[in-house]
Amino acid sequence: MSEPAADTDPEAADSPVEQAAQRTPSGLPLRVDGLRKEFGGITAVDGVSFEVESGSLTGLIGPNGAGKSTTFNCITGVHEPTAGDVYLNGEAITGLAPYEIAQRGLVRTFQIARELPEMTVLENLMLAPKNQQGESALRSVLPGLRGGVVDQEEQLRERAWETLEFFEIDHLATEYAGSLSGGQRKLLEMARALMTDPEVVLLDEPLAGVNPTLEEKLLDRVDDLRAEGYTFLLVEHDMDVIMHHCEHIIVMHQGQVLAEGGAEEIRTNDRVIEAYLGDDL
Ligand code: ADP
Ligand code: MG
Repeated sequence: MSEPAADTDPEAADSPVEQAAQRTPSGLPLRVDGLRKEFGGITAVDGVSFEVESGSLTGLIGPNGAGKSTTFNCITGVHEPTAGDVYLNGEAITGLAPYEIAQRGLVRTFQIARELPEMTVLENLMLAPKNQQGESALRSVLPGLRGGVVDQEEQLRERAWETLEFFEIDHLATEYAGSLSGGQRKLLEMARALMTDPEVVLLDEPLAGVNPTLEEKLLDRVDDLRAEGYTFLLVEHDMDVIMHHCEHIIVMHQGQVLAEGGAEEIRTNDRVIEAYLGDDL
């Protein structure tokens, strides 16, 4: 092992944020390193590396077919990457099963909400697998959960109610999930994801088909949760939402990271504009 060259010496980082990052190099909630996924002859993801900062809302965008969903699927264990690694809080989770990854604190919502239509909203939440480890960040948002241990079923029910209240869909608790509107289903999908006490939440087009009132509500809840230390990675086609709400944006194109940075940087990046030619940006 050779020493790093002086000009790339990590100790040389000068901003406080960089210094903190150097002190805890494994502290990033999510890091993707050289991710690659081939399907037969198609390279859907071609050497993708990026980092997601703690408490951030990071946007992952790109034209259709750029490899966003495949990247999500590789991160969450739906696909095994052909090469590369995924790190959650510095630990490799590459190739683990989706439930193992969820137990470690990374969950996703699906573009098509996956609630069980013939069960009630409350029952849907109670079915979500519970992550038993540690204190939940949600507990400080949901004070009702601080109480002592009663009985597991009762605790689960209480948590489900608090989560429904947090998303302001408690009035729908006894409705069949199948009778909800598209927007209400998206809120339920997110509530279900949060039942598992995650640290990192991947959102796959959570606003598709959601009316402006519910959209606002959903984004407000994301902001509340970020303030509690939750970290979000968001795939979303609505550029206004991406540009206004994400402090960091990663642009994919043809399986690779084309650019990353803040909204203004991305909006004015020539390569990004070219990749989106014909699309609204
Ligand atoms: P995006 O989500 O950015 O629209 P995808 O990750 O869905 O892009 O797709 C990236 C590329 O990989 C596309 O060319 C797509 O056709 C291909 N692809 C995605 N999933 C599969 C699969 N299961 N089998 C074969 N090709 C796939
Ligand atoms: Mg997709």
